[in-house]
Amino acid sequence: METPKSSILIIYTGGTIGMKTDAATGALVPFDFSAIYDEFPSLKRLNVDIDVQTMSPVIDSSNVAPDNWIALAGLIRDNYARYDGFVVLHGTDTMSYTASALSFLFENLAKPVVFTGSQIPIGVLRTDGRENLITAIEIAGARRNGAPAVPEVSLYFQNRLFRANRTTKRSAEALNAFRSYNYPPLAEVGVNIAYNFPAVIRPAVADPELRIARRLADGIAVIKLFPGLGEQILRSMLSAPGLRAVVLETFGAGNAPTSEWFIRVLREAIGHGIIILNITQCGGGKVSMELYETGLRLQKAGVLCGYDMTTEAAVSKLMYVLGLELSGEETLALLRKPLRGEFSA
Ligand code: ASP
Repeated sequence: METPKSSILIIYTGGTIGMKTDAATGALVPFDFSAIYDEFPSLKRLNVDIDVQTMSPVIDSSNVAPDNWIALAGLIRDNYARYDGFVVLHGTDTMSYTASALSFLFENLAKPVVFTGSQIPIGVLRTDGRENLITAIEIAGARRNGAPAVPEVSLYFQNRLFRANRTTKRSAEALNAFRSYNYPPLAEVGVNIAYNFPAVIRPAVADPELRIARRLADGIAVIKLFPGLGEQILRSMLSAPGLRAVVLETFGAGNAPTSEWFIRVLREAIGHGIIILNITQCGGGKVSMELYETGLRLQKAGVLCGYDMTTEAAVSKLMYVLGLELSGEETLALLRKPLRGEFSA
């Protein structure tokens, strides 16, 4: 029996992937994704039906803000019943932030949402965008035993499919720009697409409607420790008006100076209700605050463990969880456990 076609919605948000060289002038001009079958006739050979929507306005991903994440999540929710999967074309610079945020905003996702983009515009001969786009479409439409193969928010780039909230952009130059240091790829692409099914999260039930969170909190800051960070500076950062939570990027396995003033300043902030979440500034490995005295003191001061979370996941998780406006205890309970596979304890 012939496998039914999957229907895929491609959403173009902006970024390098959506550019091509104008034959007459040689300048970069927008690529028309609505004419995708004319640009890539070979797409007709995939067992998918494709529709395209372009976000308005199309933006460079450095200008993306939480309102854009909510709008994008809303667009996917509004089209959820009509499509089997979604491909989001996004600038690479902040793609991991947007994709992490969407993983939290979607509260019962059961269909693939695959982010991709490119380092070289899609309309340039040597582009990496063509392969990224075509394989992302194939993955968004792939099924296993009649169900979507990867019903998660994922990110496909240069032959690897990752859980989106484990990724980070690591190169402004290399075509394999993204890394997922602490979680294995969900698929590796060579001659075939080799899915790593045990690593994929699968919802117990597939609700027909997608529920999304309505708001994301502001008041989040990221503070990266460095030797020489002074008391005045740290104190003034932690007393910024409106501050609600800090992602503290510590050294190694979650370590920070043991000086009295440092711990005192953190304790005072925590005493004022500010959440401090400890992640490591190393790409690979995790925070384990019991390992050294330098981490233990943070734990005793009330700093939360972020385990092996990326900065992108930590920031967007805090925005999501604080946006739920729960009690202090419920908020901490959600921050202490993985909600969408964003960390391994
Ligand atoms: N500045 C672009 C963006 O992130 C870069 C890219 O798409 O790769 O929108």
